Amino acid sequence: MTDTKPYEQYLWSPKRAEYEAKEIPEDLDCIFCAQADGDDRVSFLPVYEDDFLMVELNIFPYNTGHLMVVPKRHVNSMTDLSDEERNRLFSMVQRVEELQREAVDPAGIDVGMNIGKAAGESIPHLHVQLVPIYEKDRGFMETSLDTKVMKESLKDTQEKYKEHAEILDEYW
Ligand SMILES: [Zn+2]
Repeated sequence: MTDTKPYEQYLWSPKRAEYEAKEIPEDLDCIFCAQADGDDRVSFLPVYEDDFLMVELNIFPYNTGHLMVVPKRHVNSMTDLSDEERNRLFSMVQRVEELQREAVDPAGIDVGMNIGKAAGESIPHLHVQLVPIYEKDRGFMETSLDTKVMKESLKDTQEKYKEHAEILDEYW
């Protein structure tokens, strides 16, 4: 892992207002399960959704274009997935790589999972993160001030992905 870590703060450089993330309700057990249930108290910026999984933007991105592939069923380990669920999940991860190459033209993509708190897990519901890496990602703000400069709003990124979302069709 090189550039991909949570930042202390963000500086949104696009003129249009940044996306207003909703406060997470206190009685919520799991934010991904709430999204899967259509609970509109939680923020959700999907690119794709079906009965098995969701592909969505991370609202606190490590970089512009950060996507997550999330099975709807609440599991917190890969060992909890059936063979079919595992294959289906990673079939989508493969498509999402293609989507990112097409839509945001990264120099590389950091693909990862954090299983367990000790591994940096913030939500104990299995998800695969795909973080695009661009040339010249880290400037003074990132290196010295732990502030990520975001050059594009989340809504604009979501639109960019949706324009190419046919790449995800029939992934399984
Ligand atoms: Zn869950």
